[in-house]
Amino acid sequence: MTQRAGIDQSVPPSGSGCAECEATGGWWVHLRRCAQCGHVGCCDTSPMQHATAHFRETGHPVIRSFEPGEEWFWDYTTESGFAGPGLAPPECHPEDQTVPGPADRVPGDWRDKIH
Ligand SMILES: [Zn+2]
Ligand SMILES: [Zn+2]
Repeated sequence: MTQRAGIDQSVPPSGSGCAECEATGGWWVHLRRCAQCGHVGCCDTSPMQHATAHFRETGHPVIRSFEPGEEWFWDYTTESGFAGPGLAPPECHPEDQTVPGPADRVPGDWRDKIH
């Protein structure tokens, strides 16, 4: 079976939160996982949109939702979603992690700051 470009099923996720937001004290709405290198970044609704920024910086073309219960993939190069294979666990952030998150860094007026 030929593996689709941009997907490495053996690579675990970089962590349970957006890598850049964790480094800078930011917060996010939803999380996306790079299917190639495991980078976890924040979605386009989030203030900083680090998942898309990761694609722009690296050219890694495929993300997968990192939300509990969501298994969809998205290909930036074709701008289309698709169903893909299972990835190295964990396949989503912890169920008790809030959306938006992390709970201790989300501002009270977060709805005014999202895209
Ligand atoms: Zn982020
Ligand atoms: Zn990547």
